[in-house]
Amino acid sequence: MDKKTTQTVKELLSKPQKIVVIGHKNPDGDAIGSCLGLSFFLKSLGHSPTVLMPNDFPDFLKWMPGVDDILIYEKEKQKSTELLEKTDLIFTLDFNSLDRVGDLQEPLEKSEAIFMMIDHHQQPSDYAVATFSDVGMSSTCEMVFHFMDALDEKERLTQEIATNLYTGIMTDTGSFRFSSTTPTTHRIIAQLIEAGADGALIYQNIYDTNSPERMKLLGVALNNLIILPEFKTAYITLTQKELDDHDFKKGDTEGFVNYALSVDNVVFAAIFIENKQENIVKMSLRSKGDFSVNDFARNHYNGGGHINAAGGKSSQSLNKTVNEFISILPRYKQELNDVF
Ligand code: 5GP
Ligand code: MN
Repeated sequence: MDKKTTQTVKELLSKPQKIVVIGHKNPDGDAIGSCLGLSFFLKSLGHSPTVLMPNDFPDFLKWMPGVDDILIYEKEKQKSTELLEKTDLIFTLDFNSLDRVGDLQEPLEKSEAIFMMIDHHQQPSDYAVATFSDVGMSSTCEMVFHFMDALDEKERLTQEIATNLYTGIMTDTGSFRFSSTTPTTHRIIAQLIEAGADGALIYQNIYDTNSPERMKLLGVALNNLIILPEFKTAYITLTQKELDDHDFKKGDTEGFVNYALSVDNVVFAAIFIENKQENIVKMSLRSKGDFSVNDFARNHYNGGGHINAAGGKSSQSLNKTVNEFISILPRYKQELNDVF
């Protein structure tokens, strides 16, 4: 975090403040971990923070320290709106523009509070008084650690903070394997373990708690895998019926797209998931090397993310969405074949 931003933050936090800490819609381990970690830190400085999420999140995150105090906008709209009206500061974490919070966008835009952004996504919007944005960072959780360090408050690291930050770094780096994992990431992880984060237990809580239905749904997804060698591309589809037949719960399809990307010679992978309730097809995109799925998602699906991991949505039917996807690929043929 640069000197000017650090100075601004120090001034903002120089007296006790009412603070709301917000993550993106469909919050993942990094969104929940960074918001909770930051919230514990702000509390230790004498502030009054509340963590607010646009909607609910998967059960495999519901053991994280502090999770029971998270306010969910979709469930408690009035309470959330009142909180936003009264608050002094709003920290937005792990997202780059206010259209990433679903229905929470309107009350957020109406708020007269001072905004601070901490985020590692591409193309950050300019709505905050203090912006700590760095696309080179593995995770927003890593950035919360840097945030504490920049304020000279690293000694406030507790087991609760360490556990939250470790979780988000682990999930956003694919357990420390993506190229966003730097020597600094590992140095921070070492300090989080020293502060009490239990890496083995955290991994187990996140990844070894699958329901039998989820494993069967993975079987369906793998069966639906289509490989297009000409474009070094692979994709998976899941219909609403396939989800319903397997007692689908939020988060159940997390990570499925990585199986498509794991195929030898595949550099671009997608999963298309039908959502009849929202009347959309939600997609996750992944890539290897320098093929930018952030650009792909922005250009075709009103989405975004990072170079190698992005998402978006389509309001067409599942079939149309997939057919359109296939029809776009020839434009990227050269680029895809140049990756390795
Ligand atoms: P996932 O595919 O795991 O849901 O998301 C991958 C990355 O893309 C995450 O960093 C996530 O925040 C971002 N992302 C997912 N869906 C969207 C979207 O609809 N719009 C934007 N701008 N980013 C998205
Ligand atoms: Mn993240």
